[in-house]
Amino acid sequence: MMMNQSFVTELNRFSDHYIKPYIVQWEAAGEYPQELHSMAGSEGILRLGHSDKDSLFRDTDSAVALVETLTAGGSQGLAMGLASYLVSLSALHQHNDGRFDAVIEQVLDGDATISLAITEPQAGSDIAAITTQAVPSAQQDEFLITGEKSYICGGLHANYFVVLAKYGDRATGQQEMGLFLVEREPGTVSGERIPTLGWQCLDVSSVRLEMARGRLIAGSQACFGTLKMMLKKERINLAVMANSDARSLLDDSLIFAHKRQVHGAPLHNKQAILHHLAEMQLQISATSALVAQSVAALREERLTDEAACVTKVNATRALDLVSSLGVQIFGARGCERGYLPERVFRDAKILSLGGGTTEVLQNIIGKSLIHSLTK
Ligand SMILES: Cc1cc2nc3c(=O)[nH]c(=O)nc-3n(C[C@H](O)[C@H](O)[C@H](O)COP(=O)(O)OP(=O)(O)OC[C@H]3O[C@@H](n4cnc5c(N)ncnc54)[C@H](O)[C@@H]3O)c2cc1C
Repeated sequence: MMMNQSFVTELNRFSDHYIKPYIVQWEAAGEYPQELHSMAGSEGILRLGHSDKDSLFRDTDSAVALVETLTAGGSQGLAMGLASYLVSLSALHQHNDGRFDAVIEQVLDGDATISLAITEPQAGSDIAAITTQAVPSAQQDEFLITGEKSYICGGLHANYFVVLAKYGDRATGQQEMGLFLVEREPGTVSGERIPTLGWQCLDVSSVRLEMARGRLIAGSQACFGTLKMMLKKERINLAVMANSDARSLLDDSLIFAHKRQVHGAPLHNKQAILHHLAEMQLQISATSALVAQSVAALREERLTDEAACVTKVNATRALDLVSSLGVQIFGARGCERGYLPERVFRDAKILSLGGGTTEVLQNIIGKSLIHSLTK
């Protein structure tokens, strides 16, 4: 599928007009306005410029452009807030037999938001340790879900959640894992903001579910397949964010090194600074190629779990180095709130945790290498 150029133009206009001028203010305030979702919905941004759902969910390039542009025009926090709905909706779309149409439409129109709720206080990387439990209700096809989720992006405001929970499978009698669609209803969903190191304009929160009504999206084997598909997309999104932030920081660092005078000459006259800039470019060019390769594989439905992990780990590591060099080049200004290096330095750390930590992704990469030996 070719990139939809009119969508990209519209997206840039949206970012220039409604995001870029305000992002420093929103990061300082600790939130962006929720109306941004309905604005993005009414301008067709959340539909990636498509009128039909099937082509929207196949349009990898526009989904990547959305994450890239929102990161470049705003922050990683804003990109997570406004663009991560696609990962959650992809689960509904994959298992949609008409049951989820209304929810998908509401989210695409910006009339509702949806968050992915997997992590629990005692279960992060160790997904099997979750204790959130779903039990069948008296209503057909309905479950009542109880448990506590933590560090949920957009959790304070979300109207819907894709929740990972355990349930007793009627056919096997075993405890299985399932993904459930939960709607926020008074008295059944609550939570508090969890202040975090980065992603400051985004509400990251706990989500307590008390007999919350849920519908099964995917159970047992289908649940793991769906989770894998979602995590693959999420990891590529996070790699795109890392790469986008690294580029923005190099651009700003170049301007700064040109303008800033030391000993009567521009900062870039110093070889050490020139090498820092060159190092940033070396990191960015390598990860850009890797991200492009993975995006192409995702588009053609041949991206392996291992390749998604390799891309995410490389891109986040590159941003770790690039963000550190950015602060170094800017000196004290690099530590000042409101300057890009300070924000990117804080946000970079989160990327090595969310969507699977670096160590957990290294486990997947390592096991895949060993597996290829013994095949
Ligand atoms: C800002 C932010 C936003 C988030 N948003 C969401 C969200 O929207 N939805 C959601 O469900 N979750 C979200 N998360 C949670 C995120 O997915 C988890 O932080 C992540 O899965 C790691 O879990 P944990 O933090 O409990 O760390 P733990 O799993 O406790 O890990 C602690 C350390 O031990 C290491 N470790 C753990 N297991 C292994 C292993 N097997 N081998 C080697 N090392 C290991 C880890 O790499 C890490 O260094 C978010 C987190 C943050 C910080």
